[in-house]
Amino acid sequence: MASQDPRGNEIERLASSLARLPGLGPRSARRAVLWLVKRRDTALVDLLASLTAVQESLVECHVCGNVDTSDPCHVCADPRRDQRSICVVEDVADLWALDRAKLYTGRYHVLGGRLSALDGVGPEDLAIGSLLARVEEGGIDEVVLAMNATLEGQTTAHYIAERLEERPVRVTQLAHGLPVGGELDYMDEGTLAQALRARRPVT
Ligand SMILES: [Zn+2]
Repeated sequence: MASQDPRGNEIERLASSLARLPGLGPRSARRAVLWLVKRRDTALVDLLASLTAVQESLVECHVCGNVDTSDPCHVCADPRRDQRSICVVEDVADLWALDRAKLYTGRYHVLGGRLSALDGVGPEDLAIGSLLARVEEGGIDEVVLAMNATLEGQTTAHYIAERLEERPVRVTQLAHGLPVGGELDYMDEGTLAQALRARRPVT
């Protein structure tokens, strides 16, 4: 049970802070604190050093909008990356997820959200101008639209595709369809429709 009456001591405060992290509830937070307390000279010291280092050096990459400890970020600064391809994502979390998969070798562009009439988010609220400017600078062959498969994500992708229409770049989009391990019986109609539309010859 979550404590409604914080005891005011430092350990309890640490547990409350950790409990606010996504994916961690009060119970997991207390377990993490106990784990750290038992390792105060090793894991706790390491964690403290990492948190301080990140807090002191956190910057937003002026090229792509990634959050990193250097500007340009490690992706933009990596000469082995394909400079001719830009993958557009809604949020930094999407960039990190794609990059963890290690399948895409180009660079990224973080929009900072998605178009949403409901939330009053228009094109000028997103990093679309800077994306067009990067394309305008030249040297870009492909723009990969990696928006979420939501209505707002797809609206955003359509808008950007339209803005890029006149530019000499190939605009591609992530395929949507069946997830790995997915069973047809459990799919919603939207997912099935996308999978059918994106069908391809058997190789
Ligand atoms: Zn960057």
